[in-house]
Amino acid sequence: MSSYESHIAQERLVEATNEAEALRALETAHDMLHADDVAKPEHTYFRLEEFSIYRPSGWTANKRHAGELVSLDQLLRHGGGSSGFLVDGILSCGEERHQIQGAVFKTLTVDGYGADVFSVHDKICIQSHSAELRDVWYQFGSPAPQYRRYYKPFLWLAHFTKCFVEYLLETERVTLRHFAREAQFATWLRRCYGNDAQYAIWCSDNGLLEYRTTVAANVGFLYKEAYSIDRKLCNQPLWGEIDPVNLTAIPAQRNIEQQTIVTPFAYDLFKRMYFSNQLKQLPVTDPVLWQEVRRRKEQLKLTPLGAIARCKGPTPEGSNTSETSTPVVQEGDVVAVKADSEGVWKVSTEFWYAYVQRIRTTTKGNVRLEVLWLYEPKDTTLGAAYYPFSNELFLSDNCGCGSEAISLDQVLCKVAVEWGSTDPAAVPGFFVRQKFCTVAEEDRYSFETLKDLDFMCICKAPADEWSECLRAYKVHETVLVLRLRLTATSGVNLQGDAYEPGDEIFADLSDGELAELEGMVHGGLDPAEIVGFNSDMHAVEVRPFRRMTDNSTATASAPNELLLGRERIQLPAARIVRKCHVRLFDEVEIREKRVPCPYDRGGTGNCFFLARQTSTLPPPAFKAGFDPAAPGRPKLRGMGIFCGGGNLDRGLEDSGAAEFDYAVDWAEHALHSYRLSSKNPHAQYFLGSVDDYLTAAIAGSSTNPSIAKVGAVDLMAGGSPCPGYSALNVNKLSDQSLKNASMVASVVAYVDFYSPKYFILENVVTMTQGMGANKDENVFSQVLAALVALGYQVQQFLMDAWSYGSCQQRYRFSGD
Ligand SMILES: [Zn+2]
Repeated sequence: MSSYESHIAQERLVEATNEAEALRALETAHDMLHADDVAKPEHTYFRLEEFSIYRPSGWTANKRHAGELVSLDQLLRHGGGSSGFLVDGILSCGEERHQIQGAVFKTLTVDGYGADVFSVHDKICIQSHSAELRDVWYQFGSPAPQYRRYYKPFLWLAHFTKCFVEYLLETERVTLRHFAREAQFATWLRRCYGNDAQYAIWCSDNGLLEYRTTVAANVGFLYKEAYSIDRKLCNQPLWGEIDPVNLTAIPAQRNIEQQTIVTPFAYDLFKRMYFSNQLKQLPVTDPVLWQEVRRRKEQLKLTPLGAIARCKGPTPEGSNTSETSTPVVQEGDVVAVKADSEGVWKVSTEFWYAYVQRIRTTTKGNVRLEVLWLYEPKDTTLGAAYYPFSNELFLSDNCGCGSEAISLDQVLCKVAVEWGSTDPAAVPGFFVRQKFCTVAEEDRYSFETLKDLDFMCICKAPADEWSECLRAYKVHETVLVLRLRLTATSGVNLQGDAYEPGDEIFADLSDGELAELEGMVHGGLDPAEIVGFNSDMHAVEVRPFRRMTDNSTATASAPNELLLGRERIQLPAARIVRKCHVRLFDEVEIREKRVPCPYDRGGTGNCFFLARQTSTLPPPAFKAGFDPAAPGRPKLRGMGIFCGGGNLDRGLEDSGAAEFDYAVDWAEHALHSYRLSSKNPHAQYFLGSVDDYLTAAIAGSSTNPSIAKVGAVDLMAGGSPCPGYSALNVNKLSDQSLKNASMVASVVAYVDFYSPKYFILENVVTMTQGMGANKDENVFSQVLAALVALGYQVQQFLMDAWSYGSCQQRYRFSGD
């Protein structure tokens, strides 16, 4: 006996009778009640009170859910409930009352479709097997207390279903968009039932402004009801968008290509990897298309098409080291020195290369060269990855200046370097087009196009904090300031001022002083408006905003909702951390949670908001932050590959920077979800393999509108299948794993072919670990190498979803 059954056994009000006996007695009562009626009622209804509905024991093979209470909308749905449900309750007719128990039923009807009144209370009936034989219906009254929490939501849904079916009956070409906020369905609903009191109650019960989720979540029940009313309703396009067993809104493409299709460039970059047997290279053979691809790369100053094939000359390394006399070196030269095998730097090479930023002569007459080291690809995060251009070097932020400067007699020779060249095949010696930047403590690395400032180390341009601050910020701009509060139990003296526990510290603390105060101060970043600069004190006067959440009465507010502050404080320039966005919104927008992205993300992106004052006070003077609704800003045209349900692409769209026109994935359910959550009515979907897609794109002759043309994609986003790398995959060398892993080469091939302006790749962290039979192949480094070799600037991040407002810990790396 299930827990539910034992529970009701104690509560039994009326002695349970056999259902057939109960029916006989009730029918007798019914006959007597209607003995004097001229016209007999068409159907016989008995009232069912105190009812509970639950699953029979045969529901699943393992009987796990036997006896479980269940909502009526689950009846006869796909994948369960085919044996019907059981009902307990009290059947009555007039004064005659009988407890029934475990009556099996499969038939549920909701009457009242097409009626002018909104309510379907008292119109929901079931028919058990025994009742069916006698053409008797059980009409629901009030549920048993333990069943109320199932019945109430079902009643809500039954009302929705009535309206849904009626709407379908009256409307042609219904799609899910009709159920969006303020769309056709909502308008229709108000027109039909806006004056019905029951409708008003129903509305206030759910507070919904749109019904798309309701439709999608209850598609099984809605379909069953629509089918039972009129089979023709099942031809509405809506079902093909949402019915998980019959999705047809996006046509499926035939899968022809079994291998991973890549461009010759991508093939060259990945042909040494453990999954290379999965790759098949496909060159562009159509001359017109070839020119388009070439022109696109030229426009974006990327590596020219076919550079690898043309770049097979000898490595220029140490080509003229036979010079015997010390060469004449000038500032701006590049020199080679012998690699230092004793030092801290790893030595895998014979020579080191350095850019001479300054030459000075010591008091003893020695000539010293202050340098910036140039890295070979293997000295960067590309590591052991194969890099196709052996004549490319990277300027670094690693300098040899001051006491680290090298002496002239260490120089073996001067080296010819072409700065800023984009064609590796067109330079006789080395070329440098990017700087490799490191913030090792934050695990942050990037390859960036050379700038003039890169040719001098920051040690030589000592930052004047104050002038830097004056240059960076203006009055009325909004910034994040670091505020520090003394949390120690006793007071401290800092720079002649005494601070008591709880005091805010305004002193300009050195790194040493800060280290000494470790554990005694607590600080955080707060948004503030700059109101002035105090040049005498080298201090910035700011007016901090207050946070709504600091008000004990407003705990439900977003953490980034602010109030205007009155307090003005002076802080040292070093406490101004960075700019932030603060924007005013109407009170009603905030209350109805209609604050637009990115202001609706709890402070992510340094975005804050506050309510616009309706009083006659003059508007606040601070400079309003980024306006997501500003017209006229062209959006990057996006393409999502391996896009799945589209979370990454939707996030990028939310940022306001992009709109996705193309989506490619072969998961039917995921891509249909993508389609429904996209706001772009012109988006094109390809439900099929990325290999077939790229084959068609490279052939150049497809008329399929979902195949993007070269030049149509500004922003490409993709996360190639992670199962090949996931830590949960125990066999990373199986054919399936190899195929999945090889898809990363496909991603590179897409970038090579389409040359987007921006590309974002997201994947699991294990992709950055050693792979292959000997665990010595780093797929991530190889992807970076490919992107750098294509001529892109690349940034890599290790990110954790919970730092970005998601309630999960989920590290991802991302390169763009
Ligand atoms: Zn330096």
